[in-house]
Amino acid sequence: MEKVDADLAEAERVKGCRYCAGKLHRANYKRKPRGVESWPDAPRRDSFCCDQEGCRRRHTPPSVRFLGRRVYGGVVAVLLPAMVHGLKPDRVRHLREALGLAIDRRTLERWRQWWLGAFVGSSFWKAGRARFLPPLCSQTLPLSLCLGFAVEERRDRLLALLKFLAPITTPDAWQELVR
Ligand SMILES: [Zn+2]
Repeated sequence: MEKVDADLAEAERVKGCRYCAGKLHRANYKRKPRGVESWPDAPRRDSFCCDQEGCRRRHTPPSVRFLGRRVYGGVVAVLLPAMVHGLKPDRVRHLREALGLAIDRRTLERWRQWWLGAFVGSSFWKAGRARFLPPLCSQTLPLSLCLGFAVEERRDRLLALLKFLAPITTPDAWQELVR
């Protein structure tokens, strides 16, 4: 996932500043995922700043590791709510332990509500859902999305799912998803 993010970041960097003729310089930031009490090795999100005085605007490329400006871990935000919906509490506990995350039930429920509300209503999903045949059930997201990508069958399918979601992870796109 780090390698995919590095590729997405490089594609953003070479385009240069969106607002002027400036070049982009690296200015990564590190944020703890919301709802996660401790994550000592929280990864840094790739980000760039324009090098022109008077512009200096920040550019944050799409990511397969982060979901949104508040920086939920992509895997966590997709898999945990899916398991809450479709799988036994044991599985949720095991995943939390494997990831070393302290996420409470309320946070998981809030994430699930985000999938069923803001995500389902987003222009991204209205256009993106067309690629799935048979159509995915929007009431069992994100479980139906995981099943649609067959993430339990092949590990690399999870990466394909996160790449599918990557366009919504830039701060601009994310604004629509946090109303
Ligand atoms: Zn600029």
